[in-house]
Amino acid sequence: MIILLRRVTAVCALSAVLAACGTDRPPQAAPTPVSAPPSRPPTLAPGPAGLTPVFEHGPRTRGRTVALTFDADMTAGQGPRAAAGERFDHPRLISTLRALKVPATVFMTGRWAEQYPDQARSIGRDPLFEVANHSYSHYAYTRDCYGLPTVPEERMRSDLERAYAALRKAGVADPMPYFRFPGGCYDRRALKALTPAGVTAVQWDVVGGDAFETDPDVVARQVLAGVRPGSVVVLHCTRSAAPATERAVRTIVPELRREGFRFVKVSELIAAADSGERTRPEAR
Ligand SMILES: [Zn+2]
Repeated sequence: MIILLRRVTAVCALSAVLAACGTDRPPQAAPTPVSAPPSRPPTLAPGPAGLTPVFEHGPRTRGRTVALTFDADMTAGQGPRAAAGERFDHPRLISTLRALKVPATVFMTGRWAEQYPDQARSIGRDPLFEVANHSYSHYAYTRDCYGLPTVPEERMRSDLERAYAALRKAGVADPMPYFRFPGGCYDRRALKALTPAGVTAVQWDVVGGDAFETDPDVVARQVLAGVRPGSVVVLHCTRSAAPATERAVRTIVPELRREGFRFVKVSELIAAADSGERTRPEAR
């Protein structure tokens, strides 16, 4: 079954708000691989006409797996707000994921990694997590994307590469070749511009609705109502922009486990995808 791409609505339109993911724990000592060969992260094959492939969710029929994803938004203009004390990170959320042993994928902007390099490095070194790319400064790759400023087409690829450079400079040694468009907004032009980068665009099929939501029960109910086998859930790890997310996670995780779901990273869902059940890019 081919799942046609849908226009994604109600997402991380955090033009004014920025999320951040953090940790208040020291970096964990990663197990030292003795002779582990470098493994290449799974990606989807290019879409029609060689366009960047788009992944929305994993297989529906291969077990009850679900991937929680957390966007770490931050724009270049938010430095002064961070300097004034606004917290775009969310150490407690990361601590909770660790305490609950929930694998997760963090889509991190380069700007966030610059603001919180210790946290970026800690998340990047923790095998519980994988870090992927959410642009450098959370500018949209299409016009009319929740009011976000726009990256010109000729600068889309360099914006993505600038984000990877910032992640690596912060100490995220191996960011994943996955890219989440700011606001989830993309079109054929954007998919084409990123083709040379070799990334897989990662969308979602469950919107957590945590942006600016203050009631964790609202977020938990929405996620629990939407999750199906193979789902990708989009949430934010931003203390100021997503204040209820950490509490919602403490409800969501035990409930989904009670229902038999296993939490995985996006890479595991992509690896499980096959040509018979994956998403594909469509011109819009
Ligand atoms: Zn975002």
